[in-house]
Amino acid sequence: MASLEKLKEIGTLVKCNTDQFFFYEGQPGNTIYIILAGKVGVMVSTVDGFAITVTTLGAGEFFGEMSLLENLPRSASIVALEPTLAISIDENNFNTFICRQPDMTYKILKAQSRRIRQLTDEMKTLKQPDPTPSQENTGVVTKEKYKLSSAGSGLFHDGHKTYGITAPDSHRTFLYTKEVECPICYESFTTQMQRSSKAKLDHIDPDLRQHFVDFEPLWYMMWICPHCYYTNFYTEFQMVHPSMVRVLKSESTDLKSKISINLTEKRTIDEVFALYYIGLYCASMGTPKPISFAKFWLRLMWLYDDVKDTQMSELSAQKAFEYYYNAVYNSSMDVSEEQQQRLLMLLGELALRCGNHEEMLRSYQGAIKIKGNPGLSNQIRDRYQEIKQKIPKV
Ligand SMILES: [Zn+2]
Repeated sequence: MASLEKLKEIGTLVKCNTDQFFFYEGQPGNTIYIILAGKVGVMVSTVDGFAITVTTLGAGEFFGEMSLLENLPRSASIVALEPTLAISIDENNFNTFICRQPDMTYKILKAQSRRIRQLTDEMKTLKQPDPTPSQENTGVVTKEKYKLSSAGSGLFHDGHKTYGITAPDSHRTFLYTKEVECPICYESFTTQMQRSSKAKLDHIDPDLRQHFVDFEPLWYMMWICPHCYYTNFYTEFQMVHPSMVRVLKSESTDLKSKISINLTEKRTIDEVFALYYIGLYCASMGTPKPISFAKFWLRLMWLYDDVKDTQMSELSAQKAFEYYYNAVYNSSMDVSEEQQQRLLMLLGELALRCGNHEEMLRSYQGAIKIKGNPGLSNQIRDRYQEIKQKIPKV
């Protein structure tokens, strides 16, 4: 490891406490970070909207080099899993760095080559399911724009009610306050953020819902900018296409005049629902892909399950099914075989909820055919047998 004194001459020391982010996926950036002490998690958002930690990095390792070398937005989010000290080196100093630290440069080149090889291997296993001619092959959702009426009532889907549930006290220990810069209006705001180091996974349902001990991340997944009302999943908050910035800016005045959101420290389920619906509204700008809507309806379905609104959860299941169906069969997505398996399993579960047994069988059979993750394949086969016993013969 290069000496700290030497590194300090060409870079800036950056310290992040546990759960703080060095940067987010989609953010612009032109610095490489070398970890001097501590540990970070590399998180990417998957196609179905879950943020997963793909790897952890420790002292002597580095991150951010892709944005530095190619001037592309960050390809992953980096969160400190313990107090972490890193040195950040920008484009201008990178040349000096290469000259002064040939051994580190060699390390970076080696890691780059390894990462490219991994990527190539993954590309080889990419596979799309057989296309179905049964539905219109558009890939892009017909513009579903949510009409706003007075007091935001038109924002919600017909049948949505007020549920009056407040977040339990237990949530508090899993949260911290975070300052965020809005990519639309560039104003800063603070928001509640879950501590990724604390949440303890209890179990995962067949429809991929993750259950945590004493905590419900669904309540804190959406970020809203209180200045312009831009709302999105926190994992995708910074990922706005430049062409969308203008559209969202002009819509914000309209949105703000129709609904008032003032998040309290202890949020209510009604605020949570409002955030998902505003997020859905923001997602409907531009030319969204089916997967963009699917992610919202799946989570709305789970939330309606929690408040025991069967009618609304059935409606959300139907919507989620339709959008995931279009995402899987009628649009192009570059996903790994494992992700393809997960999507088909989810589609099967949604079909089951909608009483569409034929589609359920087809999705599960499709998921079984893919040779992705062996553990997941076993899980899929077991679940398939379990469901087949329960449903009437089709
Ligand atoms: Zn804003």
